[in-house]
Amino acid sequence: MKSRIYLDHAAATPLSSVAWMAMEPVLLSNFGNPSSLHKEGVASANVLRSCHVSIAKCIGAHADEIVLMSGATDSINLAVIGSLKAGSMKGKHVITVATEHAAVLGAILVAGANVTIVPVDDRGHIDAESIVKAIRPDTVLISVMMANNEIGVVHDIHHIGKTIEAWRKKNGSVYPLFHSDASQAPNYLSIDVALLHVDLLTLSSPKVYGPKGTGALFIRRNAPWSSVFGGGKQEGGRRPGTENISGAVGFGSALTESVAMREKESARLLPLREKLMMGLLEIDGTQLNGDHIRRLPNNVNVSFKGIEGEELVIRLDAAGIAISTGSACKGGSEPSHVLAALGLSTDCINSSVRFTLGRSTTEEDIRRTILTVREIVLAARFG
Ligand code: PLP
Repeated sequence: MKSRIYLDHAAATPLSSVAWMAMEPVLLSNFGNPSSLHKEGVASANVLRSCHVSIAKCIGAHADEIVLMSGATDSINLAVIGSLKAGSMKGKHVITVATEHAAVLGAILVAGANVTIVPVDDRGHIDAESIVKAIRPDTVLISVMMANNEIGVVHDIHHIGKTIEAWRKKNGSVYPLFHSDASQAPNYLSIDVALLHVDLLTLSSPKVYGPKGTGALFIRRNAPWSSVFGGGKQEGGRRPGTENISGAVGFGSALTESVAMREKESARLLPLREKLMMGLLEIDGTQLNGDHIRRLPNNVNVSFKGIEGEELVIRLDAAGIAISTGSACKGGSEPSHVLAALGLSTDCINSSVRFTLGRSTTEEDIRRTILTVREIVLAARFG
């Protein structure tokens, strides 16, 4: 029997052995600065170039459209602030959605933009029309995540992107740009930047079984976007500073592996998710948060009447099962703005927890998790 069951893959995934094997020789040998002219530098620059190529290939982009970053937060900030800087003559209005990650909402705030936050319905959905209706003459950027990190709800980025593009064509404008935070998507959803009609897209390495501290921002060729950082010419001047070569190699190979595994792994996890969801919903006073169908195949977010989410997380941890109360980035006991956006009561929000399955998840894990949760919840109610 496993000593631990890990069901918090939306917060962090373990490092894949394929990624580690690709990284190890690079960590040991490619110490040269990729900007140096000598042999060691050129070797590192070549490794870096191949990372751009492999990451680009995974999302149907060109290698020069990939900017290596230190994570999704970093990438989102660069996307938002760089777009607003480029579009400063046009205005500083941004449209986003109530359930976006704190990185998007925070970046917009820090950039001092005027923001329209489009509400979601009680299942976490938005429609493209309500986004386009919010466009003003001074709108520079629209940012909509591909899949939600707390409730796993998937937005139709292809349709939203197409609708924005049609609006731009009709109005003869290059604005608003369209950014999507796809951090939670690559393991389960196909990403093709042309099909999605995005100008900017964020990827995160630690969500795809890659090393932490890396990620990437896709910036479409010719998109009106301006550099934000001062410094050297690395990443085409878009992200100056000496590159994290081993991290980029790990990210590139993890993302490639994740894309190759996507269909099989999604098909394997879906029945496990259903089993977990149904097993938990059989406990009286339990409700599912977020849409059931348009949802990542690894996400179950539920509220249990009569027990605080944090208490359940702590008790499950003591019983060998790792889950979370929602976004790991919230920290402390700040209530979830995502669940509030669905219209959940404070009690329901405080009693919510998130289970996110991954490559290590087995039927036996699900069986044990349901039994353990049932025991803890019933004991809390009647104990
Ligand atoms: N966006 C989404 C959807 C996420 O799930 C996360 C992390 O959980 C982030 C952004 C921030 O990612 P990072 O911590 O890699 O900066």
